[in-house]
Amino acid sequence: MNHKARKRFGQNFLHDPNVIERIIVSISASHNEHLVEIGPGKGALTEHLVTDAGKLDVIELDRDLIPILQERFGTYEQFTIYNTDALKFSFASLCRDEFSDLKMDKLRLVGNLPYNISTPLIFHLLDNIAVVQDMHFMLQKEVVERLTAQPNTKAYGRLSILVQYLCHAEQLFIVPPGAFNPAPKVESAIVRLTPKTHGQDEHKLCNASPENLSFIAKAAFAQRRKTLRNNLKTILSAQYIEQCGIDPGRRAETLTINEFVSLTNQYVQFLEA
Ligand code: SAM
Repeated sequence: MNHKARKRFGQNFLHDPNVIERIIVSISASHNEHLVEIGPGKGALTEHLVTDAGKLDVIELDRDLIPILQERFGTYEQFTIYNTDALKFSFASLCRDEFSDLKMDKLRLVGNLPYNISTPLIFHLLDNIAVVQDMHFMLQKEVVERLTAQPNTKAYGRLSILVQYLCHAEQLFIVPPGAFNPAPKVESAIVRLTPKTHGQDEHKLCNASPENLSFIAKAAFAQRRKTLRNNLKTILSAQYIEQCGIDPGRRAETLTINEFVSLTNQYVQFLEA
């Protein structure tokens, strides 16, 4: 396994067996499930997932790792490698039966993600959420804090709102830098994201499109210390904000996700009027 870790691919390979086991136990895959690992690297998680899952697809960008993965796992019938960029990959395409074009079971996504692309990757995965059963990811601890953040905290922002609108987000445990080779400068954490189904949706107004919600959240947080009245002034007047029962003098970070959804619906109605 003569491969030198590359910074540009965000390569920090897991080597701590206790951490690997905790991740595998958290996922608890079974033989009738379809797993997808993003960035398998040299296969630290893959070697467990390939025997636990019914089907395992892996997506790895670094072509120098492909022969290593092929040699280790190529004989498993349930294993397929995609040497491509996860940011451009259509996860929905994995859910189709190539012979009948019938939809198959949803995907369980897993990965010790490359930290340099984690935010755009999460947004890309949210675009594919319809085919996802759940996701278990290792990320920089700060990113996990943003994913799970509640209103009135520093970490709460557009990423928290979008992710929690679509998923339940739960931090499972912290992983220290020493678990990786090379060791990153920051702490990491494991997060579990479980898409909300219609029946269990906690948001009263669940009809806002993620694109519009993202647009409003981005504008509302444009300058964190400014009020909604200021940040939204070219999009939604103070009067429209008040009609949602929201004081335009508040800051974005104080709003719940339901309040963001109300603002988004108000914006859509305003556009359609
Ligand atoms: N899973 C391995 C482990 O835990 O040891 C490796 C994790 S390492 C943090 C991230 C992996 O993602 C690397 O193997 C890297 O080459 C791969 N990677 C980086 N950018 C990628 C991308 N855009 N699409 C797919 N894989 C990518």
